[in-house]
Amino acid sequence: MSIINCPECGKEVSNKALVCTHCGYELKKPTRGFFGQIFKWLFILFNIFMAFSIYKGMSDVSEVVATDTTGGAIVGAGIGFSMLLGLWAMGDIILGAFVLFTKPKA
Ligand SMILES: [Zn+2]
Repeated sequence: MSIINCPECGKEVSNKALVCTHCGYELKKPTRGFFGQIFKWLFILFNIFMAFSIYKGMSDVSEVVATDTTGGAIVGAGIGFSMLLGLWAMGDIILGAFVLFTKPKA
């Protein structure tokens, strides 16, 4: 650990400090590594994709259910949605773990 001078107020602060202890100036921005960025974006895209799949599935199902008189479509859709939601939860847990794992250390 060494001492540097804050570029904002000029007072001495630790070079390990993220913000100046005197004026609060942001000395270092915690940045994600390359893989951290990839996982962060995968996580976001995965959520968008799953939300879209479910939204798309719902509009498809409402069309099918409207023309289906046996009720089979509702049961099928229920199983389909359970699987989609399960997949979503699993993907979020796995990707979320990677996002946390690659989190910048403060
Ligand atoms: Zn300062």
